[in-house]
Amino acid sequence: EKPSVTMLGLGAMGTALARAWLAAGHPLTVWNRTPARAAALAPEGARVAGSAAQAVAAASALVVVCLLDDSSVDQVLAGVDLVDRDLVNLTTSTPAQARARAAWARRRGARYLDGGIMAVPPMVGVPEAGGYVFYSGSRALFERHRETLGVPVGTTYVGEDAGFAALHDVALLSAMYGMFAGAAHAFALIRREDIDPAALAPLLADWLGAMIPAVHQTADHLRSGDYTTGVVSTLAMQVSGTPTFLRTAEQQGVSPELLSPYFDLMRRRLAEGGGEEDLTGVIDLLVR
Ligand code: NDP
Repeated sequence: EKPSVTMLGLGAMGTALARAWLAAGHPLTVWNRTPARAAALAPEGARVAGSAAQAVAAASALVVVCLLDDSSVDQVLAGVDLVDRDLVNLTTSTPAQARARAAWARRRGARYLDGGIMAVPPMVGVPEAGGYVFYSGSRALFERHRETLGVPVGTTYVGEDAGFAALHDVALLSAMYGMFAGAAHAFALIRREDIDPAALAPLLADWLGAMIPAVHQTADHLRSGDYTTGVVSTLAMQVSGTPTFLRTAEQQGVSPELLSPYFDLMRRRLAEGGGEEDLTGVIDLLVR
């Protein structure tokens, strides 16, 4: 028989995870604050527990929690006996919350693994969708349950520091927002013209895709401390181009508020002598 799993929290994400384990034949005990969401899984084979404590006491060592936020984890697990349990927390939190939760779990006799989910519910249980979860914390726990944890989505372990999963999660999503901000500016530029956004979209997607590998050079530069190796577009050249971008925005009636902060950082780095570098030096201006 496949390893059994206990799931606490059956929102959109928790339900998707639960269904994937059920579909794969894992015995599953579930609990949710609103009982109807747990009852909905009974016809699919889930055992419905009457309380979080009962669900945790049930069968499996592996207890997966997927709740709204860190304080709901507090509320749900208050007074629940966690001794000798393998607690996997997939609730989105900050790195500091994850570290505090790991210490809290240790004090209560549980092993702890924190997770940051890099997927939306429709990607769960669909391997080709490429979703995965960042895990950090107890390596022993991760290794022991690796196969089971890999059933709903992929797994990527990023270290013993329980905060690292949340940190990786936020890092990737932050980069995503920067990318969306750039795309928003691009669409704004053409908004009042006779240009079909649907014609711009594939060009944008291809261009962003072609530029993204630059992050590898950034990493090499950060590791070596030399920001000038292999640079094709120097900061000096790029800064001298910025007025074109700002004038174009102005002429198109588009606010520069998404673009300007980045240009300001580029100019500051140039003023500090980074003209021969690429854009890596901006990072040093951000880290206080
Ligand atoms: P939902 O809002 O769909 O579900 C929230 C869940 O938390 C429900 O089970 C809800 O119970 C429960 N809950 C909230 N507050 C409490 C409380 N005080 N006590 C007990 N239970 C509580 O959220 P999702 O399932 O979408 O998200 C769950 C986690 O997964 C979040 O941390 C989210 O950031 C993360 N995540 C979600 C993604 C998504 O696309 N949905 C993507 C990546 C991560 P009830 O049913 O009773 O309301």
